[in-house]
Amino acid sequence: MLTFLSTGDKLAARALRSARRSTGHLGQLAKMTGAAVKSEVSASNTGDWKFLSDAHVVRLGNRFHTNIEKPAGWSRRGSALHRNDRHATAFAAQILRHEKWHGLVTVRDVPALAAACRRDGVPFAVFNILEDIRIEWKAKSVEGAWFEWVRWVAINPAANAIHAILNMKMAETSGWGSRWTTSDENERDLELFFTRSRNAVDSWEVVKLAKEFVDRFGNDAPPPDTVTKGQLHDDIGDDNDGSAGGTATRSGAIPDAPSAEADAHIEVDDNGEIVMPKGTPKTNTAQVHWTEFTGAL
Ligand SMILES: [Zn+2]
Repeated sequence: MLTFLSTGDKLAARALRSARRSTGHLGQLAKMTGAAVKSEVSASNTGDWKFLSDAHVVRLGNRFHTNIEKPAGWSRRGSALHRNDRHATAFAAQILRHEKWHGLVTVRDVPALAAACRRDGVPFAVFNILEDIRIEWKAKSVEGAWFEWVRWVAINPAANAIHAILNMKMAETSGWGSRWTTSDENERDLELFFTRSRNAVDSWEVVKLAKEFVDRFGNDAPPPDTVTKGQLHDDIGDDNDGSAGGTATRSGAIPDAPSAEADAHIEVDDNGEIVMPKGTPKTNTAQVHWTEFTGAL
């Protein structure tokens, strides 16, 4: 697990603050939909979106960065810890971009979506993955940029069809992206579902597609570590609207990643600057650099 400079709470709060600027993803969401956007840090390892009382509510989990398995690329700028914080910030921006696209194109009446899934015997998590494929493809088509999840996240061989299509979503490609060893027929059908999800016109069409998916491949759940690593998440609606699909994304029990701030008793301000090692008198002008502290790291 990577060590960061800042705690998860600070990283998430900082990411939300920059996303709320007019040019940030949440600022854009407000402008483009003409609706208010509320945002807050939650106790989870992912982001989520819902539409409540004429406002978007977007949250970012204070454990989002624990899903990062790949280190930051090498850079001359800053210490390794600063680089890891920047790497986490870039990851958070993509998570918030994803939630922005739910706000732009996902049906806002989530209780109705959840009811449709229940009616069709579709686990909400299956709908959620296919909907994620749809919205990320729309984002790519409109904004031109990939999400590049593989910069942060490791993709493991698929255990079943739903895991395989989740892998395609994370890799943003069909074919090898699934990492599923299976029959040609399964492979072909899975690729069709991926393409059809990308091109579905709206969330209702995705519910129908999810029903077809479950009829074709069954509804075996992906391995639990896809949940604990934040790849499989219920990020639409909340626990009370019938959409909670048994995907425990809101686990406050996931420990924070190691951070110099928590582990070495330093203090990081809202701008990611080191205030000074905790307990160091502010009058100490001899404190030349924050890395000169003693503490386990
Ligand atoms: Zn999503």
